Amino acid sequence: ATLATQSDRQTLVHLSDYIAFGGEELVIIAGPCTVESRSQMETVATQLQRAPVQALRGGAFKPRTSPYSFQGLGVEGLEILSQVRSRHQIPVVTEVMSITQIELVAAHADMLQVGSRNMQNFDLLKALGEVDKPILLKRGLAATLEEFVMAAEYILSHGNSQVVLCERGIRSFDTYTRNVLDLGAVVALKQMTSLPVIVDPSHATGKRELIPALAKAAVAVGADGLIIECHPEPEKSVSDARQALSLDDMVQLVHSLHPIAAAV
Ligand code: PEP
Ligand code: MN
Repeated sequence: ATLATQSDRQTLVHLSDYIAFGGEELVIIAGPCTVESRSQMETVATQLQRAPVQALRGGAFKPRTSPYSFQGLGVEGLEILSQVRSRHQIPVVTEVMSITQIELVAAHADMLQVGSRNMQNFDLLKALGEVDKPILLKRGLAATLEEFVMAAEYILSHGNSQVVLCERGIRSFDTYTRNVLDLGAVVALKQMTSLPVIVDPSHATGKRELIPALAKAAVAVGADGLIIECHPEPEKSVSDARQALSLDDMVQLVHSLHPIAAAV
């Protein structure tokens, strides 16, 4: 038995005093792929309050496929996130790519994201086991469920019980969608482990027009939450523009999820 599989009680992962993954309420994290400017994040926070969403996302340190692509605003991006966080009283989630960034990211964010490319960075996972912040662990690009659960186990066994698993699509032969959203994995992970499981339909599909239907499907199969990319001017996103929803579409999507969540 492992810590991830041991308990038959659902683990609650707390994002704030009022928000927890794995409870009754669906937790929706929304925001741009990359933090681009203060005004961008202000607009996102203001507009998404209408939804509402439970947390904002935005990358300050970006794991770009090409080293020549924009790598994120770094510390400046984190400062923008923490200002928006306190002005709007909303938790923020952002990626940490290395052990050396942990202290800084933990000082600005409510939840630390481990990206797909780092799912088996075991030294990073061990270090995150010693952090007093919840961790959003994304499934590796081609990780089996066993590997995914064992990655979570690295964090749990080093002392941090607050881990949320995120299915974000896996590599396959068809390039029509960016990845293949594995909803079977969501159901299986909920049965295999006591950890909350959320879905990222943005990176799973890579195409904005596919996101609303798959977000609804994810809620219908029992996902505890969603993380979705959106932008004030989707076409102008510095990264992942093709999959960014407009803020209006994001608000509308959140509203359409409530009846499904209530029925599950
Ligand atoms: C992201 O969420 O910004 C991201 C880079 O996702 P992934 O690690 O799933 O590719
Ligand atoms: Mn992205």
